[in-house]
Amino acid sequence: MLGKLFGNKEKTHSLKIDGVDKSISISSKETLLQAALKEGVKFPHSCRVGGCAMCKCRLVSGKVKELTEKSYILSAEELQTGYILACQSLPRSDVQVEVDFSRADIPEHDLVTTPGKIIAQNPLTHDISEIVIETDKDIEFTAGQFAEITVPGDITDARSYSFGSAPGRYKNEIHFFVRAVPGGAMSNWILGDQAVGTKVELQGPFGDFYLRSSDKPMLCVAGGSGLAPVLAVLEDAANQGVNRPVSFLFGARTEQDLYCLDQIKEIKARWKGEFEFVPVLSDEPEDSAWTGARGFVTAHFEKYCTAETQLYMCGPPPMIDAAIAEAHKYKLEDKDIFFDKFLDKSDLEKPKQNEPAQTA
Ligand SMILES: Cc1cc2nc3c(=O)[nH]c(=O)nc-3n(C[C@H](O)[C@H](O)[C@H](O)COP(=O)(O)OP(=O)(O)OC[C@H]3O[C@@H](n4cnc5c(N)ncnc54)[C@H](O)[C@@H]3O)c2cc1C
Repeated sequence: MLGKLFGNKEKTHSLKIDGVDKSISISSKETLLQAALKEGVKFPHSCRVGGCAMCKCRLVSGKVKELTEKSYILSAEELQTGYILACQSLPRSDVQVEVDFSRADIPEHDLVTTPGKIIAQNPLTHDISEIVIETDKDIEFTAGQFAEITVPGDITDARSYSFGSAPGRYKNEIHFFVRAVPGGAMSNWILGDQAVGTKVELQGPFGDFYLRSSDKPMLCVAGGSGLAPVLAVLEDAANQGVNRPVSFLFGARTEQDLYCLDQIKEIKARWKGEFEFVPVLSDEPEDSAWTGARGFVTAHFEKYCTAETQLYMCGPPPMIDAAIAEAHKYKLEDKDIFFDKFLDKSDLEKPKQNEPAQTA
């Protein structure tokens, strides 16, 4: 209450991570994960919104304030032994945590924070546009990763958007594919009339979705704006001369919702091995001229998914969950399944209001 009346004062604490040979200075307004990544610590993470548990760590000592409910994602045993999500925990004292670094599988890049300006909105479908942001500093990333965008005004939290092109295609310019989420604050702001010419802030790269080195055939699956990181991975792999067989299922509702088809064609033409592209429509009217694949992407796994496949996918969480379950039917193991779920606030528990800080 007092904090609300007088504005929460920013304090500085220290963050000690077991096995990391330095004490990190952390503001009371940044999460443990943000502070660790800023210091170059390879802290395991994926979604950064409290939905994947990749950044779970054990609170050894100190107090944190948690931004979202974690009990639905951590096991009862983890909760009892003091596990927290580093991406959702703000320090309320000096803090010490224990992290399992063997789970960290993140490309090495410096974390960059840069001002940027939205310079173009190029419509791709009725609800997805390519957004081009000119940046003061270049962000080096690996294809498949994402950045966080902060916009001016009332939308206080940053949101994640995946890089929609291979690294190196543009200098000081980042291309994202943004879908207008019904009732969504940031996506509708970015796609709104006032956005072009507006200054924003970008931070990145983040994430553990990228092409693993292997000879296994790739099954790529994209839904909606999830095409951005999948396309970036394929474009980059084509640039590198990768020759693994690829089956690429692109799920959309109707033919109107398919986009970037020329770009996919161009990547396929340059691909050194077999490349089969299969657009799959779930809601295309029965009497339309469409003669291609229909249904959900998972209905087509029988043809393309085996125990020897590597599965790469991005898009809506229900699509990813269904695809993982389907892939398991073909004995594909989790070690060969890589994905980013495009989680938003509706997928996560309501933020906690005025909860006491957790202590270990
Ligand atoms: C790793 C990652 C990569 C991503 N990449 C992309 C990308 O490349 N392109 C893209 O378009 N998106 C991407 N996303 C999703 C993106 O980050 C945003 O979540 C999305 O744009 C929606 O943000 P928003 O501010 O518009 O919606 P929000 O304001 O976050 O709201 C989303 C929905 O939740 C509802 N809602 C709001 N608050 C609550 C609440 N407290 N409880 C329950 N429901 C609530 C809203 O009504 C709305 O329907 C990615 C997400 C992740 C995690």
